Amino acid sequence: KKPPSRKGSMIDVPRDLLEQIAQLEKLLTVDTAKLNEIVDHFVKELEKGLSKEGGSIPMIPTWVMNMPEGTETGKYLALDMGGTNLRVVEVELLGHRDFDVKQSKYRLPDEMKTGTADQLWDYIADCLKAFIDENHEIPEDEEEKEKKKQETIHLGFTFSYPCSQSAIHNGFLQRWTKGFDIEGVEGHDVQPMLEAALKRKDVPIKVTALINDTTGTMVASNYTDPETQMGVIFGTGCNAAYFDTIGNIPKLEGLVDLPPETPMAINCEWGAFDNEHVVLPRTAYDVQIDNDSPRPNQQAFEKMIAGLYLGEIQRLIMLDLHEQGCIFEKQSVDKLKVPYSIDASLLSQIEEDPFENLSEVESIFLERFMITTTGPERKLVRRLAELIGTRAARLSACGVAAICKKKNITRCHCGADGSVFNKYPNFQERGAQALKEIFGWTETNPKNYPIRLLPAEDGSGVGAALIAALTLKRMKEGLP
Ligand code: BGC
Ligand code: MG
Repeated sequence: KKPPSRKGSMIDVPRDLLEQIAQLEKLLTVDTAKLNEIVDHFVKELEKGLSKEGGSIPMIPTWVMNMPEGTETGKYLALDMGGTNLRVVEVELLGHRDFDVKQSKYRLPDEMKTGTADQLWDYIADCLKAFIDENHEIPEDEEEKEKKKQETIHLGFTFSYPCSQSAIHNGFLQRWTKGFDIEGVEGHDVQPMLEAALKRKDVPIKVTALINDTTGTMVASNYTDPETQMGVIFGTGCNAAYFDTIGNIPKLEGLVDLPPETPMAINCEWGAFDNEHVVLPRTAYDVQIDNDSPRPNQQAFEKMIAGLYLGEIQRLIMLDLHEQGCIFEKQSVDKLKVPYSIDASLLSQIEEDPFENLSEVESIFLERFMITTTGPERKLVRRLAELIGTRAARLSACGVAAICKKKNITRCHCGADGSVFNKYPNFQERGAQALKEIFGWTETNPKNYPIRLLPAEDGSGVGAALIAALTLKRMKEGLP
């Protein structure tokens, strides 16, 4: 394969398509001035979320109240329920900022995302049971066997949806995100639901800590890199966590009796930023995605950035251009009419096509959508993918910058994870470039930028285990 022909030549692209491309560029480009406008509004919204009245960003106190020391030891179980997979992880903390993991992945069937609550919890309990049966030896000795049966296993449950927490082990689901729509869970505490399912199956597991993937990511990354002050996820959904202090969280006033300088990790749930549509450069396509989603008017920021939606933006724009008679003329676009038929990994492939004639794009359209493309059409399609990916990366940077500005952080590492961060072409570079523009850094080497997003440790596994360990330690010491 040849190296990617970055923008590629547009010489053979006819005038009308060139004009379309120019219009798309205008529609999807977020310039520096706009970035700054978004960041300023974002900072205010973060503050509002912490206030008594609240705002649209939930800013949830997680009751994770300290970073690890690096000396933690022991074996813990973690369960990761994200947007795509279900994972059970056994983590052994080795006590010197190091760990071992053993894990199994289970598919989360699509039907389950819109099924019933019982189906979901039973399925999860079955996965946990299967993992334990496979990995935990049963002692020969009867007495030992009984003893082992009585032992509770402490679980760090990574449940990556907005949950209000009155303590570290519980979580009342505010609302489903990422396309989930399971009745009977919103408004309820998920901890007793999971524990009840585990009990039905006779699995001796206790949910010791219920955590968000962002909090887990922050803690896990801080364990191996103490310069980490933030955890961010750019995957199926998007979100961030950071540490604030009790004194800065007016909505906790009267609820806790702790010194104002006490640290408290905040799960921002920033996907909800700008739900009132004040500042984000939403297009008609973004509006349509929102309207057709199971939760309209929610997660405005997330719907412009997260992996679940990127391909859908591309699909809607292409369909619109087709209807206007600009592309795929006289062809059936029936297959392209299927909602969510382009996922972020397909979009990555389109953008990354290394061939001068974009033959990979050609076969994607032919095989997946039964559409024959002309060379110029492929150039438009590829440029569009690039614009959508760039917009996502630049908007993402606004969230990171806003937290840093709010906390007066001028230098830090942010542990970052998720399929978009790890796999979407150029996402990291584009995000870093946007941060540079926002802060006006003059440094030219991205490795020396004062605020950097670095690939994180496994927050939903190792982070959850670490938080379970920290929680047990605090309990032993009689700390809140
Ligand atoms: C959820 C967050 C989560 C993020 C990344 C969002 O949809 O609301 O809780 O952290 O996705 O997984
Ligand atoms: Mg995940």
